[in-house]
Formats: sequence, C-alpha cells, structure tokens
Amino acid sequence: MKSIALIGTSPIMLILANKLSKDNHNISIYDINPRIGGAWSYYEYDGKRINTQTNVIVPANQNEEEKFNLVNSYLKNEFNINIQEDFGENKPLGYLSKKNYLYDLQSLYQTSNKYNLIKKKINTLEIINNKIKINETIYDEIYIPYFSGIDQLKFKDQIIKIPYNIIVSEHVLIIAKNIKYHNVSYSENFDKYFDRIQIRKYDNFSSFTARVRKEYKGTQLDILIKKSEISKYLEQKLMSKLFKYRNFYRSFEQLEELKKIDKFDQVNIINTFQFFEGFLELKTKYL
Ligand SMILES: Cc1cc2nc3c(=O)[nH]c(=O)nc-3n(C[C@H](O)[C@H](O)[C@H](O)COP(=O)(O)OP(=O)(O)OC[C@H]3O[C@@H](n4cnc5c(N)ncnc54)[C@H](O)[C@@H]3O)c2cc1C
Repeated sequence: MKSIALIGTSPIMLILANKLSKDNHNISIYDINPRIGGAWSYYEYDGKRINTQTNVIVPANQNEEEKFNLVNSYLKNEFNINIQEDFGENKPLGYLSKKNYLYDLQSLYQTSNKYNLIKKKINTLEIINNKIKINETIYDEIYIPYFSGIDQLKFKDQIIKIPYNIIVSEHVLIIAKNIKYHNVSYSENFDKYFDRIQIRKYDNFSSFTARVRKEYKGTQLDILIKKSEISKYLEQKLMSKLFKYRNFYRSFEQLEELKKIDKFDQVNIINTFQFFEGFLELKTKYL
C-alpha cells in the first residue's frame, strides 16, 4: 500500500483516484476549490446538476470518436453513470462527431467522499529520500494534472521551475420556466456577449449556460442578460448566477516543462487537456 497524493477533483483525476484506491493505495486529494469537479463543477437546482462551465465529453477527431464505446462502457461499469444519446444541436469549433451523449457525472463526483480531501493549495514539491514532500506531509507518489497551480519542484540542490498563468473565466447560468429555443448540447458561438453555450430542458425548467466573452468580462449579470439575444427566449426567469472559474492555465511550452518532472519516480503527470484525450491516455497507462 502506497500513500498517494493527487491534485484536483476534475473527472479524469477522480477516475484515476478510483483506480488507485481499488489497488489498495491510500489516497489524499488536494483541491483548493470548495466545489468538486475542477473545470467541471456544477450547480444543483431542483435536484438536477447543471455544469456551470458548459462541459461536454466529445471526441476531437475520428480516431477518438471510434472509442466512444470504450469511454461509455467504462463510465457505466465503474461508476454506473447514466448516459443518454444527446440529440441537441452541436456546433463545436473543431471536429463534429456523428453522435453525442449526455452524462450525469454525479456518481463520479460522489466518489470524492471516499478520499482524504485537503482544501489547501500546493505551491512547491520536494523530493526527499525517494519520497515526495507536500506542505510538510510525506507521500510515496503524487499525480499532477496538466492545469494545476504548482510552480516548482525541489530536488537536492536543484529548483525546477514549472510556471503557469492564472486565467479567470466568467460563466453564466440562467434558469427559466421555459426557454423558447431548441436544445443545444454545445455551441461555440451564440451572440455578442456569450460563447460556449448549452440549452437544456428538464421536466420543470430549462437552463442556459454560457461563457461570457472576453470583451464583456466584468459586466454586471443583469445587464449582460438584458442585452443578450437569450433574453428574447426566456419565459419566466427563475434565477441567474455568475460563476468565476480560476484556471491554472499552461501553454504548450509550459506543459512541456511540466512533463519533464515525470522523469522522477515519485511524480506522475496526467494528461487532462480534454476529457476524451485524457481518458484514452489514462486507459492505456493506468486503468
Ligand atoms: C472552463 C473550462 C471548461 C472546460 N470544459 C471542457 C469540456 O467541456 N470538455 C473537455 O473535454 N475539456 C474541457 N476543458 C478542458 C479541461 O482542461 C479539462 O477538461 C479538465 O477539467 C482539466 O483538468 P485539470 O485537473 O487539469 O484542471 P481543472 O479541471 O482546472 O481542475 C483542477 C482542480 O485542482 C485545483 N488545484 C489546481 N492546482 C492546485 C494546487 N496546486 N493546490 C490545490 N488545488 C489545486 C483547482 O482549484 C481545481 O479545482 C475545460 C477547461 C476549462 C478551463
């Protein structure tokens, strides 16, 4: 049994935690964000979980699309995740898949209760006596996702810098009795104010989630909604909320620097670039 630390509760990291814990290791997860899910965190309304960052599991190319069965059967078998075909409009920026699915990731998020969740930020890692030291605690290994806020690793008298940039995006959730618009599973564009949108209909209400375009970040929520095209389609607005997501972004060059510390036996870098790509790599290496 090893003592293992992971960073973050994004879906790929929770899938990995589940596997490591099944292998009988002792798992601690550091996540400074009080919401579970990382960039896939959600808001619960009337018993439904709505991803506030407009999240979708979609393939980035034909090769990935051919692996849908692999992804779906793993999520179903391991976490009993409810998966339905998604017939909403799909307008991604890149590859257009023939089919899409709707995933309720709640049972995956719930697995986070099984681990020692530590709501503290890690800045520095240190390799000492073949172990890894994190904020005064010693572990056998650490698993680090691509978008994590660690900026250096100490090894003997060396300090290896692994810089990142913080990007804060703004996301809007509107709940209305009805939205007179077709279901949108994902659309990269919507109007002058919002991009990356989703429109979903539930039994008692409809939801609109969107990212605020860069130019309009910092605008008051009511003003954004009033000016946006979406206001024409809202019937009986029930609530609206603005969420800010703090992403520890790494450029391709910064990711290459991060990958270099994978050479240490105690450090494992996990590809979380996109869900599909990350899952397929995880499957090959760890699952
Ligand atoms: C807003 C947004 C939406 C996205 N939507 C999609 C999508 O729909 N589909 C898709 O395939 N990909 C999407 N992506 C790509 C995304 O990068 C991955 O899906 C994935 O969530 C990244 O996982 P991660 O663990 O690297 O980072 P995150 O998801 O950001 O999760 C990292 C978590 O760990 C915490 N954390 C980070 N560093 C530390 C530290 N040093 N100490 C303590 N806690 C720390 C963070 O606060 C956060 O909660 C999205 C990315 C963003 C930014």
